[in-house]
Amino acid sequence: TTQSSTTRRRVLVARPRGYCAGVDRAVQTVEKALERYGAPVYVRKQIVHNTHVVKTLEERGAVFVEETEEVPEGAIVVFSAHGVSPAVHEEAAKRSLRTIDATCPLVTKVHNEAKRFAAKDYDILLIGHEGHEEVEGTAGEAPEHIQLVDGLDGVAGVSVRDPNRVVWLSQTTLSVDETTETVARLRERFPNLIDPPSDDICYATQNRQVAVKAIAREAQLVIVVGSTNSSNSKRLVEVALDAGADASYLVDYADQIRDEWLDGVTTVGLTSGASVPDELVQQVIAHLAARGFGEVEEVESVEESVRFALPHELRKDLRTA
Ligand code: SF4
Repeated sequence: TTQSSTTRRRVLVARPRGYCAGVDRAVQTVEKALERYGAPVYVRKQIVHNTHVVKTLEERGAVFVEETEEVPEGAIVVFSAHGVSPAVHEEAAKRSLRTIDATCPLVTKVHNEAKRFAAKDYDILLIGHEGHEEVEGTAGEAPEHIQLVDGLDGVAGVSVRDPNRVVWLSQTTLSVDETTETVARLRERFPNLIDPPSDDICYATQNRQVAVKAIAREAQLVIVVGSTNSSNSKRLVEVALDAGADASYLVDYADQIRDEWLDGVTTVGLTSGASVPDELVQQVIAHLAARGFGEVEEVESVEESVRFALPHELRKDLRTA
């Protein structure tokens, strides 16, 4: 036969992957705050949902707390990219904390939509994952108007005051396809359901899902670099499986890849969540190369150029540094 004795083993790397504009801004906010004010800089919740990023910032003097009451009076506290409810701003003001708000502008956009529809007395169906920080922050804008719909299973439990005054909004990091299904099911129950004025699932989440689909079609295994509490990273695993990968796993670090995952695999797909620094992806590429997957090809699906300015309260202080 003419069959080659060496099997071709390759890695398809998705693009875009990794850092989105909101994460880049949030991480830089903590770094620049440490430079400008010195350690410690307190951060409420994980600045972004990535183990490595949090650990690295901790080593540099960031102190992560769960609630503002753990922050000493008058100290500086950064609010994470996922956003906070007005109640958290009030608590911080009561304790005279100096706040720097690193909430992603695309999360703030959803907060503003929630406020606007609540002011018009709509019932707001917020599609999202129970217990996720972003959802808690958004729901806190209008707790009496917002009910959480946690995926398809949540649809049956929804009850509204007036089926003609109902709008849906969503968490920014959901699966696009699953959300479309959930909305369709909600619309069966409430035919006059209003759509959000613009997409709540953010550009970065959408683009990373499009990009992973493109490689998952050709890969037997898709590795997603990301942390287990990262919503958008977990969705990438689901989307990869839906798109045809036989297997897909979420790993924080290259050394979590088990050799048996690679048995019989000729094409590995690789991507990373929006909170993942690219050095971790490069470590996976090196790990795979050492196991015979030396051919690396980047597959670009969408071009990205979004950037956000640092929070204004920090920019002001950086100017007077
Ligand atoms: Fe902002 Fe989207 Fe990034 Fe979340 S994933 S920080 S909403 S750009």
